[in-house]
Amino acid sequence: MSGELVTIPARGGKAAQASAGQHIKVVNTHGTQVVDAWAFNARDLTEWMSMEASRASFMKLAAAVGDTFVTNQRKPILTLVEDTSRCAHDTLMAPCDRWRYGLLGVEGYHDNCRDNLHSALANLGVVIRATPPSLNLFMNIPWTPDGQLAWGEPVSPPGGYVVFRAEMDLVVALSACPQDILPINGRTGRTTEAHFAII
Ligand SMILES: [Zn+2]
Repeated sequence: MSGELVTIPARGGKAAQASAGQHIKVVNTHGTQVVDAWAFNARDLTEWMSMEASRASFMKLAAAVGDTFVTNQRKPILTLVEDTSRCAHDTLMAPCDRWRYGLLGVEGYHDNCRDNLHSALANLGVVIRATPPSLNLFMNIPWTPDGQLAWGEPVSPPGGYVVFRAEMDLVVALSACPQDILPINGRTGRTTEAHFAII
């Protein structure tokens, strides 16, 4: 991949490989779309980007520019090097899945980030037996001093983006979250495409 923008289809997922030192740019093309992100050590797919280990490393609920996400073996995997989104990217919420939509009253199948992760990886010939916690890019989950959380609406401008540096050879997976019941992608329930590039 040579830096061209790749479409993450609305309600779908994409995965790609990146080498250590390359950059991964994720663009909130329309400004309202949450993108769930995962990263895996390309040489050991049981080693993945860990939200709980990363919070213990940078000691914040959400990363700032310069902060490095680490794996479940506490090794650096992605460093946030640029961010024009004005969003504190959520590290707390689990990726959506079929059971989540069942709890929200959906009958029958609903697209979800968990399935998007696994189908995107399958397109690279990669199988992961677990679903790690996601880094929820552009997802606005405000918190209060007493620890209350809320499902916030999007705050990013159209075209807002983040850039990460890969700290190891890795596989990255991205899901344009199909959540259309809670307001995390906006109150209209409209879900959109997003884009990324490996640079
Ligand atoms: Zn989702």
